Amino acid sequence: MASTPFSRFQSTLTAVLEKLKPTTEERKLLSEPQHVHQTKIALKRDDGTMVEYPAFRVQFNNARGPYKGGIRYHPAADLDEVKALAALMALKTAVVGIPFGGAKGGIQMDPKKLSKRELQEVSRAYVRAFVKQMGPDIDVPAPDVNTTPFVMAWMRDEFEKQTNSYSPAFITGKPMAFGGSLGRDTATARGGFFLLQELIDRQALDPAELKVAIQGFGNVGGTMAHFLHNAGYTIVSLSDSQGGIYSAEGIDPVRIEKYKRKTGSVTGEYCEGSVCDIQKMKMDGVTKVTNEQLLELPCDILIPAALDNVITEKNADRIQARYILELANGPTTPEADQILEKKGIRVIPDILSNAGGVTVSYFEWVQGRSGEQWTAERVDSELKRVMLDAYKAVRRTAYREKMSYRHAAFAVALKRILDAMRARGWVA
Ligand code: NAD
Repeated sequence: MASTPFSRFQSTLTAVLEKLKPTTEERKLLSEPQHVHQTKIALKRDDGTMVEYPAFRVQFNNARGPYKGGIRYHPAADLDEVKALAALMALKTAVVGIPFGGAKGGIQMDPKKLSKRELQEVSRAYVRAFVKQMGPDIDVPAPDVNTTPFVMAWMRDEFEKQTNSYSPAFITGKPMAFGGSLGRDTATARGGFFLLQELIDRQALDPAELKVAIQGFGNVGGTMAHFLHNAGYTIVSLSDSQGGIYSAEGIDPVRIEKYKRKTGSVTGEYCEGSVCDIQKMKMDGVTKVTNEQLLELPCDILIPAALDNVITEKNADRIQARYILELANGPTTPEADQILEKKGIRVIPDILSNAGGVTVSYFEWVQGRSGEQWTAERVDSELKRVMLDAYKAVRRTAYREKMSYRHAAFAVALKRILDAMRARGWVA
């Protein structure tokens, strides 16, 4: 049977729980969400027809604090996927030690087919559907795939109307004009960048000698490409949904960004659709690559920053990178993990690598509650501290318990959640 996002989460969880040896009751609490809320959201389209979309809010665990997690708008956002993402959020907040639990939301639909009015209506209807289950001390949503700061602003506005309150801490990822935090837009890549710098410093490696391939040139992958380029790394490959380019000599992400803005694609400087200017590519030492080929290119650091489930038992053996920094959620299957470990490839797992986003979301929540506005410098230095503390805890556990970094990150997080559940008296 094909694996699903939640079955892949459970597979890693089961392997790690073998070592932690929780009681049956504790194991049950760590394996399933505390609450699954689901409904159908009705929308009157601009043409007068009515449609209904399945909508979910899964609250995985709140032993360590209010539930926290984004809301995804996507045709594939079904209950299984939202459950897996909620579980990963609970572990992510625990591994970076911020006082939140884990949750996730989703509406199963294609937002690209909606007008702006329809999108606003669906977003407000989502809040009305789950208003009793959410709130600054209960469950704090955030953006995820296809949900933007504008969506967060509509949602905050709707929540405040429904509850007759002033609630800047209801939701994070808001625009700066309506309670956002400086540094939130770059936080996920920034957090991953701090980890990578620490990793290569400890290995006494020089960024100037390291080649990086990045899958995905969106918010996270694009921002990461800029940070790495500025720090002297050589970006050898970049891609988006339409494919990518490779140059052993290195690619300038600023230039790629310019062409992407103009043509809508990372390959836009060289190709129009499937027709490419071969002469120009030859002169620049550039070749076109598919997203599958990108993963297998010769490089030192591979950064999946787009989709889940891209490194599997089918291609793991052909990966040449020495390090994989997972900025996407769930890019590697448990079967692939085993192959990578045997090959000696170090994987810095998603729940650690991409936790910078939720960390700055926490800073935004703190600012919302206190009425303060932190400076960009304060956000950056606090983020660095949180990420490096988490990295050190994971590295120590990996070394002591002879575990992969993924299993160590799970172990650190699960132990913290278990300690909180025991302290609350939920389990003996
Ligand atoms: P985004 O929508 O801004 O960018 C996604 C990128 O992936 C785009 O460049 C898109 O073209 C590309 N893409 C889409 N389909 C692809 C395909 N089939 N092959 C290759 N590339 C493809 O999204 P984002 O916010 O950058 O998120 C990327 C990943 O990072 C997701 O897995 C997300 O869950 C994860 N993540 C994001 C944040 C955050 O703060 N934005 C936080 C944690 C994790």
